[in-house]
Amino acid sequence: MSDPEYTRIYHREVRSERRRLGLCLKCGKEPAIAGKTLGLACKEKSDDESRRRWANKREAVRESYRERRRLRAERGLCLECGKERSVPGRTLGAKCKRKNARRWKMTRRERERRLKAGRVVLGEHDRVGV
Ligand SMILES: [Zn+2]
Ligand SMILES: [Zn+2]
Repeated sequence: MSDPEYTRIYHREVRSERRRLGLCLKCGKEPAIAGKTLGLACKEKSDDESRRRWANKREAVRESYRERRRLRAERGLCLECGKERSVPGRTLGAKCKRKNARRWKMTRRERERRLKAGRVVLGEHDRVGV
């Protein structure tokens, strides 16, 4: 059983046999869900596992993000890019602050534009109604 080639073939045989019988490919002890290769118990387990893996990954990403920001704050660097010194009393450097301000201004202008567009449509409707 230590021969990997043998193990591979053996597993393939077992799996095709289970598939033929309509059994769960993983445990072979329960019927597979219609149109699926796993039974209910194994599917739930694998769902759980992938959900947990995802949660762990998400948490790790969040943690490294937090850690990076913390290190930058400690060194008095801009939290956004980490390349420039942050403005005293602020979390961002001058460059990123400017960039952020521009972004905000843009979204505000966009919102106003949409609002105005909506009003125009409303006005037309009113006229139609009259
Ligand atoms: Zn199973
Ligand atoms: Zn910056």
